[in-house]
Amino acid sequence: MRPQKITFGDMREAGIRGVLVWCADYRCSHSVALSADRWADDVRLSDIEPRFVCSACGKRGAEVRPDFNWGKPIVSAMGYRNMT
Ligand SMILES: [Zn+2]
Repeated sequence: MRPQKITFGDMREAGIRGVLVWCADYRCSHSVALSADRWADDVRLSDIEPRFVCSACGKRGAEVRPDFNWGKPIVSAMGYRNMT
């Protein structure tokens, strides 16, 4: 049983605009960062996991996690912006 994850709508509400997709095979651990814009608000992260095929090892299935750092410079993620 896969744990049910949050939806893209929940994620966008939290201000997260991207996801990290990890290969389901931990020995491969290939990962890619994707924009979440292509998925609808009612889609769960766990719904799309079986649809990925790893481009490195060809294994089907993935681990999808919110990308908390999507499009954010590190300073902004820390709540501090120093524009010089
Ligand atoms: Zn892989």
